[in-house]
Amino acid sequence: MDAEFFRAWLAEVASVVESQRDHLTQLDAAIGDADHGINLARGFSAVIVALEQVSTPSPGTVLTLAGTTLISKVGGASGPLYGMAFRQAGKALGNAVQADLAALAAALEAALAGVQKLGAAREGEKTMVDALAPAVAALDKAVADGVPAGAALSALADAAAAGAKATISMQALKGRASYLGPRSVGHEDPGAASTALILGALRDVAAREHIP
Ligand code: ADP
Ligand code: MG
Repeated sequence: MDAEFFRAWLAEVASVVESQRDHLTQLDAAIGDADHGINLARGFSAVIVALEQVSTPSPGTVLTLAGTTLISKVGGASGPLYGMAFRQAGKALGNAVQADLAALAAALEAALAGVQKLGAAREGEKTMVDALAPAVAALDKAVADGVPAGAALSALADAAAAGAKATISMQALKGRASYLGPRSVGHEDPGAASTALILGALRDVAAREHIP
């Protein structure tokens, strides 16, 4: 997977986030302040503009630029957290012009570590970590088992989607939703939902670009 592939992923993320903007905002209306879809749509459209303006010759530079842009353009909790995730992933990929599946898995591990370092959320606290952590574990397992990229990225996306749905029954212990206490139960966490969309976009782009 080259820089072009990672740019295609971010273009797909921007498109999916835009089409799901109202849905994400409605999820945040239930347990937050109704801005998550707006925040991410603004952020990823700014990422697309930045990628048109700045040369990104390697996968690492693509993800680092995305992270830096999200930090500068998105307020709220999710901007710094997603910004950290993409920057750490970019840093993990280094300057290599190609990233194989194992490198991508390591990059997503670094993204998760960055989110947890910044936000201090553990699994089960109803945040984006509940989608990202099982997704990273599923991809790590697929890599260890020698699963081809297409199937491995499907496992990644499926685990993220299942992790997001599993937040419905959780009580929020981090972020704005935690102010609701037990009343946060019964709603899907918006950040977990957006993480599932972002990783679903990765699977879809890999399928479209015929990554084996
Ligand atoms: P804000 O809560 O500031 O309005 P957003 O609505 O854009 O920001 O994002 C909310 C999402 O951020 C939550 O649904 C949750 O997934 C995520 N989030 C909030 N705090 C944390 C945290 N400490 N660690 C991980 N994710 C968090
Ligand atoms: Mg919000």
